[in-house]
Amino acid sequence: MRLADSFDSARSEFLDGATAAGASIISHEHPGRGPEGAVLASDVAVLGRPDAPNRLLVISGTHGVEGFAGSMCQSAWLRDGVAVSDAVSVVVVHAINPYGFAWVRRVNEDNVDLNRNCIDFDGDVPTNPGYDELAPALVPESWDDATRQTTAEQLLEYAGRHGFDGLQAAVSAGQYRHPQGIFFGGSEPVWSQRTLESIVRRHLASAERVAILDLHTGLGEFGHGELIASHPDDLGKARLDACFDDYRIPSEGTSVSADVQGDVLDAMVSWLPGVAVAGVAIEWGTVDIVAVSDALRADAWLHAHSDPLGSAAAPIKEQIRAAFAPDDPRWSEMVFDRFVAIRERAVEGLVGSFI
Ligand SMILES: [Zn+2]
Repeated sequence: MRLADSFDSARSEFLDGATAAGASIISHEHPGRGPEGAVLASDVAVLGRPDAPNRLLVISGTHGVEGFAGSMCQSAWLRDGVAVSDAVSVVVVHAINPYGFAWVRRVNEDNVDLNRNCIDFDGDVPTNPGYDELAPALVPESWDDATRQTTAEQLLEYAGRHGFDGLQAAVSAGQYRHPQGIFFGGSEPVWSQRTLESIVRRHLASAERVAILDLHTGLGEFGHGELIASHPDDLGKARLDACFDDYRIPSEGTSVSADVQGDVLDAMVSWLPGVAVAGVAIEWGTVDIVAVSDALRADAWLHAHSDPLGSAAAPIKEQIRAAFAPDDPRWSEMVFDRFVAIRERAVEGLVGSFI
């Protein structure tokens, strides 16, 4: 079990696996290109009856580079054989943010975090005064040792006043005022959101029940996969209880993640009126949160103030890859074993006690 070395090879493995599994494949080509000119696309593999009452949706690459792990899980599953029945069909979405995946970034072609982008841009856009205060320190104009030292002290000083949870919330809850910053939610629905909405409506709107696994990396203990729900109401919680064990809800303060607005899990519930939906992110830990944050800041600086194809790029892209897609077979095995267990549990719930 190992991660692919590029978006291109991950995509090829996925398409080969989907073909071997006899899936119907629909490709959504992205208007951009990869760093070496490669075609970018989100690919959808559909297995089983299109009118099955219960459907399992598995998404990789919501956060670009995090798709290396998700893609590995999806391709290995397709190779091993996907169990479908009259009661359950499967929809597998590969690389919903193909640009970020190919450029080894968490964000998309617009520097937008897809999991902050699904808000109502016609309404009041969320504010984040903590981020506003920290913005110049988080992504400074230069990224040398002296600047890194000074800005690290500024972040620690903020943590001294607001606690580390306060720092994490300010940094990662999402922000809509700093287009070159980190965790930027954008100013309109981006390509990946529009594409995901069309996929979800097309393949899932006629279902009775849907379970969703959205595959992420970068937070939590090494190799542990925390299940994270978004903002379920009481009925939503009952459905989650049926499909998953020990999921966390960030607004309750028990998750490795800050509470976030505009994520795809909430959005998919809204795109599927009348369908019973239970969706979680699986968040696999990699390295510590300071190293992850440092990698994201370096990458944001590279794309905002330097040249992502220039000499500064290689070490920063290595840093990002290490933070979100560790090349460690032990980690890959832990990720895949957890994926299989959660997936099987979700299907049991879907056909069992789900309401
Ligand atoms: Zn993520």
